[in-house]
Amino acid sequence: MIHEIFPVGVLGCNCSVIGDATTHEALVIDPGDEIDRILSVLARHQLTLRQIIVTHAHIDHVGGAMRLKQATGAPILLNKNDYALLKMLDMQAAWIGVPSPGAVTIDHSLNDQDAIQCGTLNGIAMHTPGHTEGSMCIYFPVEKKLIAGDTLFAGSIGRTDLPGGSFNKIITSLHDRVLALADETVVIPGHGPLTTIGEERQSNPFLVKS
Ligand SMILES: [Zn+2]
Repeated sequence: MIHEIFPVGVLGCNCSVIGDATTHEALVIDPGDEIDRILSVLARHQLTLRQIIVTHAHIDHVGGAMRLKQATGAPILLNKNDYALLKMLDMQAAWIGVPSPGAVTIDHSLNDQDAIQCGTLNGIAMHTPGHTEGSMCIYFPVEKKLIAGDTLFAGSIGRTDLPGGSFNKIITSLHDRVLALADETVVIPGHGPLTTIGEERQSNPFLVKS
C-alpha cells in the first residue's frame, strides 16, 4: 500500500493519499485544501485517482474536494447524514476565516459497511456519528489501519459542540465500533499525530474505563 499522510490547510487536516502499488489506482481521503500538493503526490507515484472520500462535512476536510474532482474526474463520497452540514460551508468558512470553497456536489452517499475498493486494496466504511451526524471512519483490515476523521485523536476525541455534534453518540461510536478493532490497529486521526487503538484504549482520558 502506498500511503502518504500530510496536513493540509490552516487547520492542518490530515489528508491521506492511498494507492495500490500494482494497479496504480488511488483514493484520497479528506482533501481539505492544498489540492496542488495532493495532485503532485498522486503524480509522483503515478497514481490514477478513483475516489475522493470525505470523512465528514467540515470545511477543513471537504474544502478542496470539488477542485480535486475537477482536476481528476473522480467522484466524491460522503455520508448522507452530513449533507445538511455541506450546505453550511459559507458559514463554516466564516468561522475559520477562509474564503468559501463554493458548493460541493456529492456523487454517492458513503454508508456503514460499504466496501471501498482500490485496485487490490480493500477498505470498509464505518458510520461513527458524534462529531457530526455523518462522520465516517475507514478501516483497512489487511493493513490494520483506521482513518478516523475527527472521531478519535491521540489522547482526545472530536469536539461535539458544533451543529450535529453529540457527546453521547461519539462515545457510543468509539466504544461499540472503534474500540472493537484490534490493539495493533494504527489510527490516522483527522488532525495531529498517529496513534494505535491499544494506546488509546489504555490512556485516552475519554475512553479508559474507571
Ligand atoms: Zn471536523
